Amino acid sequence: MGSTGSIGTQTLDIVRMHPDKLNLFGITAHTNWETLANQINEFRPAYALLADASFFNKLKESITHDQTTLLCGHQEMDHLVRADDTDTVINSLVGFSGFRPTILALSAGKKVALANKESLVVGGELLAPYLNGNYDRLIPIDSEHSAILQCLVGEDIENIDKLIITASGGPFRSWSNSQIRKATVRDALRHPNWEMGSKITIDSATMMNKGLEVIEAHWLFGLPIKRIEAVVHPQSIVHSMVVFKDGSIKAQMGLPDMRLPIQYALTFPDRWPLASRHIDWSVQQQLTFEPVDPVRFPCFDLALQAIENGDYAPAVLNASNEVAVDRFLKEEISYIQISEIVEKSLSHITNSDTLSVESLEAVDREARAFARFI
Ligand code: MN
Repeated sequence: MGSTGSIGTQTLDIVRMHPDKLNLFGITAHTNWETLANQINEFRPAYALLADASFFNKLKESITHDQTTLLCGHQEMDHLVRADDTDTVINSLVGFSGFRPTILALSAGKKVALANKESLVVGGELLAPYLNGNYDRLIPIDSEHSAILQCLVGEDIENIDKLIITASGGPFRSWSNSQIRKATVRDALRHPNWEMGSKITIDSATMMNKGLEVIEAHWLFGLPIKRIEAVVHPQSIVHSMVVFKDGSIKAQMGLPDMRLPIQYALTFPDRWPLASRHIDWSVQQQLTFEPVDPVRFPCFDLALQAIENGDYAPAVLNASNEVAVDRFLKEEISYIQISEIVEKSLSHITNSDTLSVESLEAVDREARAFARFI
């Protein structure tokens, strides 16, 4: 799901490398019909879905074979997720829209390889019963969480003391507060280590991404928030660490390459070969670590506050952040207004209904409407 995005295209790289082991049953895209058409023509999956109906005819006209059934619209996505031939759903949708397919897939007994962290941030409480302490139902593609999963193989969950999530620090790591206040969209999109979609790149600049990842780790690994820490590690070589109760620390390392966590999510707990660049140990390497600065990066603390408040607060956090990031990318608001909008939304929107998919969707809509006009 989301085959034309950054994670989607890299997932298809993995499929391309292992045609004997991986069978692509279906792919979905939102609006990018041209890339989707190329993918359909190359991979010939049984099904392909374009969510945006306005480009459906253009898509149909570009397909060179009849081995793929073309689908249109969100309803059809549900059928694809639940289809008998679907064994693993790779969810690389962006934002809260990824939540519904995640819960559908889990309730239908499918394995989910998850790049859509918003699913867990917003609906972790509803997804938790399906995970039930198992790591093989919902497998993270997020590099930090993949690192933790790799460190936990062969370990007893009881023996974990802490999880340490590393952060690159983003493009503003060494900027002063007054410089950050004047940051432009171009500045914020210039991530030092990772090539990613624009939403997550802005989240990395504000460090909202790290806050979301602490919440994601909380639900994936079942540890309380106070036992999950974040540390800035500008080289992005150590992808995360686990501290055990005897003080031993395991880290997972490698050059930044999302294809590794994508492939691992498909092979866990096994490993397959992956042609990739390796660290060159014949030259001097420096790995450095520094604390997260809550003053320059207020979004990080806002995320922790939201998960502490629980219930609908993470949904409000996520929805208002999605809207604020979108408005920043359109140059409607300044960089520092992102955190201001999220903060105002968190204090303004509450709900006392019992948590459900529908009530989460209602709060999500309300928070979006609020964040759009403040
Ligand atoms: Mn990450």
